[in-house]
Amino acid sequence: MAGQEKAAKMRWLWFGFFYLLFAFITMYLFQTISVWPSAGVAVAALLLYGYRMAWLVFVASILVVLVYFASLQQSLWSWQVLVITLLTATGNTLGAAVGLWLCGHVSSMAQSFADLQWVLKRFLPATALCGVVAAVFGVGSYWLISLPWPHGYLNGVVNWSVSNMVGALVVAPLLMCQQLQPGWRRSLRQARLKLLALLCLSVTAFFLFGPGQIWLPPAFLQPALLLIPLLFVTLTASPCVVFLFQVMTFLLVWVGTTAGYGPFISENPTDTETAMQLFCGFLAAVILVIQALLAEQRRLRKIWATELLSSKRLLEQRVEERTRQLSEANRQLELLSVTDALTGLANRRRFDSYLSAEWQRASRLGQKVGLMMLDVDWFKNYNDQYGHLQGDECLRQIGQLLRLGARRATDLAARYGGEEFALVVPQAEVSYLKQQAELMRVAFASLHIPHQGSPLGYVTVSIGIAVLTPMPQQDPELLIQLADEALYRAKHQGRNQVVLADEGQQRSPVQ
Ligand code: GH3
Ligand code: MG
Ligand code: MG
Repeated sequence: MAGQEKAAKMRWLWFGFFYLLFAFITMYLFQTISVWPSAGVAVAALLLYGYRMAWLVFVASILVVLVYFASLQQSLWSWQVLVITLLTATGNTLGAAVGLWLCGHVSSMAQSFADLQWVLKRFLPATALCGVVAAVFGVGSYWLISLPWPHGYLNGVVNWSVSNMVGALVVAPLLMCQQLQPGWRRSLRQARLKLLALLCLSVTAFFLFGPGQIWLPPAFLQPALLLIPLLFVTLTASPCVVFLFQVMTFLLVWVGTTAGYGPFISENPTDTETAMQLFCGFLAAVILVIQALLAEQRRLRKIWATELLSSKRLLEQRVEERTRQLSEANRQLELLSVTDALTGLANRRRFDSYLSAEWQRASRLGQKVGLMMLDVDWFKNYNDQYGHLQGDECLRQIGQLLRLGARRATDLAARYGGEEFALVVPQAEVSYLKQQAELMRVAFASLHIPHQGSPLGYVTVSIGIAVLTPMPQQDPELLIQLADEALYRAKHQGRNQVVLADEGQQRSPVQ
């Protein structure tokens, strides 16, 4: 709360100081009121901080008028002075208030000088109206007490209006901008280009509105040349710097013209004033419009860039998602390509590649590889008896049990083909494999799947096993052949049994 009060006091001091400073510079340094920069201070104060700042304008105006009369050595206690003072102060205050009413409260650059519509439809008309209101009251007070006005009252209203309007147009943007963008001074640090522009402005002003005029060919006495440094700054600098240059340009033109230099000097001092006023007002309006246009363009560009970025991100997300789906689909496909559809075990392809890989590894390391070949007994009969669908179901059950038989992570259970299954067991000892095979045979039998076509009355399997330490240049087919022969013997010896491949054959395998 205390902080807010302090800020409010600072605001009063700040705006009061500038109001009086501009007023006294205008009256006593320039000794003309062809331009009234204090109107800019009043408009800025009200637009930024609301109607409560009207008191500041009113009190400061009274002070200025009283000082003016005092400096003319007039008694301040006449009713004429009272009327002029009160009406002039009321006019100045009401003018700024009308400005606020038209523009609305301003709290950001985006809603004000960076918005072309606001500049065109609100600010420019507001400065004009502000001038007219102040002039009607100011000149009106002279008319009311029948004091004459040089060149007539109407002329007075026009001149007063324009001087207030130009003051507001030139000064208000800088004061408002520096309040709305407190960090603007930082942008002054990148000084090289600005110094160049300042130099260009000073040189141009020296030749157009200063003593340098005598060296300038008359055809070059074009005030529009001041647009060069001003436009350069408008295109390259932040709004505050632009408005600062605008004020500096205006000051140079004003000082030069008051000192009797420049293209506006004519026989009639009123014509000189009017020409300068119109030029400064026009220049300020043009710069304000260009500045707003550029700000809008920058804002649009930012929006486009953000939209572009977000749509790019969306696209990337989609691509990422699709890639993930694709790789998942690929993984599924790969799995399917090595899986047997009926039992879910590894298929023949997988069996072949796995056995080959394990065979080579065992060959390198001098390790053993074991293989079990299982065949369902009397399965043709089973199909004939129970139908193929039931036969499929039986094969599925056998597959499930075989999966359990692959106990180690390196064991691979596969459907070799038809009703034949295989179990690859790397690094297996004969005794372990025999024990495992026996265990499985019993497990299958104990499922007690009814089988009328078998002498035993239930489904059984025959198992052939072989274990080999691969020699270089031997194929894994040798191991399959051995296990298959053992299986064949198991069938011959009455089925439902485990047979180990011939010992002799295992030590010196047939090539
Ligand atoms: P053995 O005890 O000598 O092995 O006699 P078997 O009848 O089991 O042997 P055989 O090779 O004569 O018959 C195998 C049968 O397996 C023939 C075929 O109909 C059946 N079979 C092969 N694949 C499938 C399958 O995917 N589903 C079903 N239901 N039956 C199959
Ligand atoms: Mg068979
Ligand atoms: Mg069979």
